[in-house]
Order: sequence, then C-alpha cells, then structure tokens
Amino acid sequence: MDFVCSSCDAVIPASPRAWRCASCGGVLDVARHAPFAPDLIEARDPSLWRYGAMIGLPEGAARVSLGEGMTPLVTVNLGGTRVHFKLEYLAPTGAFKDRGTTILVTALKAWGVARAADDSSGNAGASFAAYAARAGIAAEVFAPAHASPAKLAQIEIYGATLNRIEGVRAKTTEALEAATATGLVYASHAWSPFTLEGTKTVAYELWEQLSGRMTAPGEALAGDGAPDYFVSPIGQGSLFLGAYRGFKDLAAAGLIGRLPRMIGVQSAGCPPIVEAVRKGLDRAANIETRPSVAEGIALARPLRDREILRAIRETGGDAIAVSDDEILAARGALARMGLYVEPTSAVVAAALLRIRLQGTIVAALTGSGLKSPA
Ligand SMILES: [Zn+2]
Repeated sequence: MDFVCSSCDAVIPASPRAWRCASCGGVLDVARHAPFAPDLIEARDPSLWRYGAMIGLPEGAARVSLGEGMTPLVTVNLGGTRVHFKLEYLAPTGAFKDRGTTILVTALKAWGVARAADDSSGNAGASFAAYAARAGIAAEVFAPAHASPAKLAQIEIYGATLNRIEGVRAKTTEALEAATATGLVYASHAWSPFTLEGTKTVAYELWEQLSGRMTAPGEALAGDGAPDYFVSPIGQGSLFLGAYRGFKDLAAAGLIGRLPRMIGVQSAGCPPIVEAVRKGLDRAANIETRPSVAEGIALARPLRDREILRAIRETGGDAIAVSDDEILAARGALARMGLYVEPTSAVVAAALLRIRLQGTIVAALTGSGLKSPA
C-alpha cells in the first residue's frame, strides 16, 4: 500500500518510518481510498470493524481490537434543543481515540513493529498504551507533565513507559521527535494516516443508526440518515475530519443527499480555527494561547488545519469558541442528564446552549468524566 502527501501529492510507500512527507514535511493520507458500500458491512460484527472492508490497511493485517466503535446514540433535551449525543466516551479506554488507534496498531503489528511511541495530552496516549498492550508491542508515551493525573495513571497501568515532559504541549512532540533518532518508531495518532481511516467510521455508524438500518428507540429519522449538523470538539480535529470524510464517502455512494454542516468547537483560551474562520483564512490563525479546562484541545496549530477549514466552508459549517465558565456549566448540565464527560468534551454542549441550532443535531461526547474527575 501507499501513502499520499496531503500537501504536495507525493506518493510514498507505506512503512512504519514514513510518518510525514519526505519531500515537503506534509501530513500523509492512505492513497487508495475504498468507496463505501453497504453490501460490504459485516453486519454481525458489533464493532467498527464491521466496516473493515472499507478501511485502508497493509495487506493481510490481523485486526488488533478491543471491541471499539458502535457507540450508543442518546437523544436528550438540552436547554430546549433536541440533541442526539454520540457517546464516544464509552470506548474501551474511555475516549474516541480508540477508533483511530485500533487501525494504527493493527498496521504496526502487521509490519512487525516491536517498539513504538506516541505523544499525547493524555487520551491518545492511554489509547495507544492499551492497544499496544493488546498487540504485544512495547509502548512509550510522551505526555505533558501537567496532563490529568488520571490519564497519566491510565497510560502507566497498561504497561507503557511514560515520559513526563515539562513545558507547553509542543515540547512533548519535540522530545519524541528527538527520541525517534534512536530507532523508536514514531506512531503518532496526530500524524498517522490510519487515524482518520478509523475515525471516519463514526459517520458510517451514524448513517446506520439514523437511517433506520440500526435504530435505537426514538432515534430514526424520516430522511436519509444524515443529520443537519455534526458538532465535535477540535484539537487536531481527528474526529471532526474523520466524520467529514465518512459523510463524504456516504454522499459519494449516493446514500445521503448532502453533507451535514460541520461545527467545530474550541476553547476561548485556544481558538486557532475559530479565529481563522472569523478572518476568512485557509490556515489556522496565529493565536496567543491561555490555559483552559479543555486540556485535550489546547493545541495552537492542528496539523490538518487546511482540511478542517475546507470542511467548514464546504458544508456551510462554523467554528465556535466557548469560555471555561460555559464549559463547566455545560459539563454539569450533561451530568444531570446522566452523561459524565471530561471538560474538553463538554465544549459541544456549551456551544449548543449558546447558538441554538434548528434541525437534526448530532454532537460527539468524546471523553469520559472519569478521566478528569470534578
Ligand atoms: Zn509533501
């Protein structure tokens, strides 16, 4: 299989060492994009691997799975607005990251990688540690020393080597990039082309759940299974972009008539995409970051900023910044409906309480409250 550069279109043979474009340093994608086909869904598999035929992986790869995907869709009244929450925090490690990690670690295992590392503010590191343990791969995780103690403890209990890095989030990536010079495979969830191969399945599931193919009580739509809005937090934007790509696949297959409006939410302390939308830029805006309770999306420059902004423009979407006060209030409101999420995940509810959308709204709740106890 091959990777293709998202910036300069260079085609690069896929390998564990090819984590960015050798020519221009751009982010890579899986080159062969399998079309979505309902006939290829393995309907008896209750995990995201039911879409395995539509996921780009090295030939003959044996699946490394912990039963991820097929998360529930729960409908609530949020301050007068009907919202379908996709409970991504019910993943095996308590965060949506498992969608990408199951694909990434499956590829590493197929390539015979024995030792690999990821850098993370917490959730992706915990996910990587868990799947590496499942695959028998030695994992190293580079995380900011100030990350949530529950997340750091989770990384370590899976048996990964945890490197706590002092300073801002970018220092963590720098430390890891230096370590790869010693032969460690850099299995970055942010850089890896396999991450979006996994996260795109969230759109496939929503289509099955909302179109009546797989209908939970009270959730079937009269239409074709595409919501009017898809709302998610944006740090690197891996769930946001995965959903965008997945909905595009469904549209290309003629299964949905139009793409949902893609709404990304950031914290007011770190809003590079919100600022870019406001200023009409096609790259993330340069911003001054301030501390926020939404630690998981405190990222000044997403790697795939161009595609995030394209997704927002193409779908008539938007990006919204919410304050820490709004985030904590929304987290409490969700909990009083039985939905316990971390502050980073509550940003979507904070945004919905402010902007009052009309139509069918799906919002992703990405990380468990147990990761960052109140
Ligand atoms: Zn390139």
